[in-house]
Amino acid sequence: MFEDTASALFGVEGLQVTGVQAAPDGGIEVWVVTDCQAAAACPDCGTVSGRVHETVVTRPRDVRRAGAAVDLRWVKLRRKCANGECPRKTFTEWVPDLPPRCRITARLREQAAHEVAGRGIPPAEAARHAGISWPVAHGAFAAAADPVLGQPASPVAHLGIDEHRRGRARFAVDERTGDYAVLADRWHTCFSGLDGQQGLLGQVEGRTADDAAYRLAGATPAWRDAVRVVCIDLCSIYASAVRRMLPHATLTVDLFHVVQLAVKTVGDVRRRVVRARYGRRGRCGDPEYGIKGLLARNLENLSSGQFTKILDTLDRDRYGQEIAAAWIGKEKLRDALNLRARVTGSVPCERQVRDRLFSFYDWRAQHDDIPELVTLAKTVSRWEDQIAAAVITGLTNATSESLNRLAKLEARLAYGFRNPRNQRRRVRIACTRGSRRRSRTATSTETRTVTGRKPDPG
Ligand SMILES: [Zn+2]
Repeated sequence: MFEDTASALFGVEGLQVTGVQAAPDGGIEVWVVTDCQAAAACPDCGTVSGRVHETVVTRPRDVRRAGAAVDLRWVKLRRKCANGECPRKTFTEWVPDLPPRCRITARLREQAAHEVAGRGIPPAEAARHAGISWPVAHGAFAAAADPVLGQPASPVAHLGIDEHRRGRARFAVDERTGDYAVLADRWHTCFSGLDGQQGLLGQVEGRTADDAAYRLAGATPAWRDAVRVVCIDLCSIYASAVRRMLPHATLTVDLFHVVQLAVKTVGDVRRRVVRARYGRRGRCGDPEYGIKGLLARNLENLSSGQFTKILDTLDRDRYGQEIAAAWIGKEKLRDALNLRARVTGSVPCERQVRDRLFSFYDWRAQHDDIPELVTLAKTVSRWEDQIAAAVITGLTNATSESLNRLAKLEARLAYGFRNPRNQRRRVRIACTRGSRRRSRTATSTETRTVTGRKPDPG
């Protein structure tokens, strides 16, 4: 309840505005006094005291008003406790928005926290705008973020696990051998629900099987039981963690990474063959160099002219035919992956997928003189069950990859992180912002009442 319009506009409960003037630096100077019954009560014994010890002026930080910095001057009393038994001799007045020893208003703290958590502004920038220090802005953000992030995640049926590099790896030259040695290469393992409803579920430092298993072990048994499918990259470490902690779940691999591997195989064969043929690396003007982009494309996306260009280039000699064999191998593998419902419109049966994979193995058997194709087939056969499961379920790790992009963006905005805990907090807040927005209910409808008007100054 505010007694006058100026105090209502200022809007800190328990403070009454007594004067406003322009500050020399372009801001505004606001003078206030305490207007709160409870402020006269001793915080220890609760006795209301009328005995004044001294008058002090404090300058707590407050939010900007219409863009201008506010220089708040609070004239408050230090009172003597009226209770002779009380160990506290004197106390200063305080109001709920500015508790004892607090030098910034609750709304400024809230604003700094919201700028970081809700709008993605780095704490350093939020602090600069609010006229406070980085630790204060960051502390406000952490205090607001931790309870939100501490809430247990809802169960997910489809879980994605992916790794995320914390920062650039650092190397040093070994003086004895002259080789590069890794000084630091730090990773996070990220967990996300593939329905995309909850954003990033959590992270853990490191990327070993134990690290991932540790995070899964922290979840409740009911949460673990709810996971039906887990999607990972072609990463045996996470596969082992999933088998250990979620033995009932179906493991699938992200098909993008399978195709990426096949495209890389074609590129490896092309580079080896070009070096064998010309005795140097490929360069602009070589026929093989002219089709390197086309070889990476999906067959169905090539125009007839582009298709003919590939055939004409590769049909000329045995070198070209070796590249062609790898390219056809890639397309045979993609044939199996293209059985997924998103492409065909109907869910395939396992037999169909395995038949097409067999056709790929058969092709590799006919070309066992191409080592890269042999390696690819070996990898595919090792992951055959997971690839078949991915084609049948149609699940991809795209959600995890998109969250990785957000995590990278956050690291850039922060110019890198030194503290992994801060990084996890900031990344998780950034990667759950969308889901928080969706779940937000109606905003507060609290109103401020003006009970009286200031008499006209004239
Ligand atoms: Zn007292």
